[in-house]
Amino acid sequence: MAELYEITDDVKRDVLAATDLVQLIGAVTGLKKAGSSWKGLCPFHTEKTPSFHVHAERGYYYCFGCGAKGDAITFVRETERMEFPEAVAYLARRAGISLPVRKGGSRADRSKETRTAEALEAAARLFRQQLPRHAGVVALLAKRGIDVEEGLRLGFGAAPDAWDGLKSSLSGSYPEEVLFEAGLLSRSDESGRVFDRFRNRLTIEIRDPRGEILGFGARALGDDVPKYLNSPENPRFSKGKLLYGLDRARESIRKADSAILVEGYFDQVACERAGRPHAVASMGTALTPVQADLLSRQAASVVVGYDGDAPGQAAALKAFALLVARGVSCRLLALPGSHDPDSYLREAGAAALAAAIDAARPVVEALAGRVPPPGGDPELRAERIKEAAEILGGAPDKILRFELLSAFSRLAAVPLPTLHASAPQPNRSPGRREGGEVRREEPERVPETEEKVLAILIAEWPESAALLARIPLGLFTHSVTRAVFDRLGKVVVNTGPLDFFELASHLEGAAERWVLGLPGRDSLLPTEKRGLERIDKSLQRLMIRLLEENKRLLTAEIQAAQAAGDQAKIDELSERKNVLVKKVDRLWKEWRRPPEGGRE
Ligand code: ZN
Repeated sequence: MAELYEITDDVKRDVLAATDLVQLIGAVTGLKKAGSSWKGLCPFHTEKTPSFHVHAERGYYYCFGCGAKGDAITFVRETERMEFPEAVAYLARRAGISLPVRKGGSRADRSKETRTAEALEAAARLFRQQLPRHAGVVALLAKRGIDVEEGLRLGFGAAPDAWDGLKSSLSGSYPEEVLFEAGLLSRSDESGRVFDRFRNRLTIEIRDPRGEILGFGARALGDDVPKYLNSPENPRFSKGKLLYGLDRARESIRKADSAILVEGYFDQVACERAGRPHAVASMGTALTPVQADLLSRQAASVVVGYDGDAPGQAAALKAFALLVARGVSCRLLALPGSHDPDSYLREAGAAALAAAIDAARPVVEALAGRVPPPGGDPELRAERIKEAAEILGGAPDKILRFELLSAFSRLAAVPLPTLHASAPQPNRSPGRREGGEVRREEPERVPETEEKVLAILIAEWPESAALLARIPLGLFTHSVTRAVFDRLGKVVVNTGPLDFFELASHLEGAAERWVLGLPGRDSLLPTEKRGLERIDKSLQRLMIRLLEENKRLLTAEIQAAQAAGDQAKIDELSERKNVLVKKVDRLWKEWRRPPEGGRE
């Protein structure tokens, strides 16, 4: 039904504007007024103290506990398990808005994103239709004991053995640029010829946690290289930010508060078929920090089930480090030989795989098992002890860290002080390990003056946008304020208040949380506009600080030039310093002076 409607960006905006977010969400979880926003227990994770905020005026919700966030449409999709058009239609019905019915054919006024998403869904439908007719793909699945019906349930399909199977089927409905945008077509560098990206392969649908299709993985049938071909990387499809299977596994993960992390598509499918549906795959690559963030928000404990060979084990250790650092309780799935879940299921059967998953050992035991007994190879022992101390010592909670290290100390017969000495120093520098981004906040607080300047810019949007060009990025010293300010400069200015959710969607980590949490901080972000004059004082303070810093740097340079006896350089630098000193003096004077027409 929902596909009948013409859902343009305008329609979406109208529906969102007509929806009472507090009433909508309040039906699912109790909300209490807290300042200018609303607060309650999060419907997306289990918690005892409310960390779920609804910012009705800004049109979004955000949970500080699990990171769940979105607008009314996202909320309906998440809680009612609806697709995007259905969710919009549902909200429109609630608000008494009648949706424009789709005029046959013309899609020119639909948003680009919607069209790309539709093209991907259309491709998925085509690949599914092809599946039963493609003997090679049917045979490949049959080898794993998967029949056509189950293959379709798992999101498998078949790309036809042709250069333009998809192109000719879809080009009537979608312009070529949309099919490129969706990563479905390729162009030859030499001839410029355009053809299907996926040809004669088993296709695997890769969806976001809400079930929207983002791209495909595709496995070769014979010896074609590469064995696995994925959709090209783009803002929509970024393998390192996704977990394969999370859309299907999410409900089971939530129920079990536990997940299984595996490497490949078929490993994920193997777990599901073994009756352990709470599995996700990091898709060939080792777990990335972003994937670890995603996973740690979904589950308190994770069974890591990478391949039994050396690279698989190395990837498992890296995953442990990332997950333990996020406070996740880990276990290691050990399969005999160099088996992975897929090969083990095929050889030993579903019951054996399920039993192995259930018997996965806690991370401490797994790490201690890698250490040779006392009296064994001292170098290998030292290496393995260090490796374990680094992983376990990364636990963010002090007591947990102590308990993990103590347990390892007993099992591997290593004195506890030795372990503490080689454990990383907690809270020293985030992202210390292999560039791994640790979820903890930066140690120092975001400077208040910088927060104030940003808050005023945001509160006075869009009038404040004209000011941005006059404020140098160098004024902001903290990574959070720098990132937010930098992003503000890229926001397309139109009438109306700033779209927080849109702004945050371009930011990561602490900067994203800062933006999403801002509407709840009433002292910082007032609900009414108070005028841009407020910004002057705060800006001047920052400007003075920046110039003072430059003055210090120049002084050091002059000293260096003096030591080198370079008179020309000394003169040039001194001249620059004089200008700077005058400027700083002037700013100080202005700052101390009461504002024009001051009330005092
Ligand atoms: Zn939550």
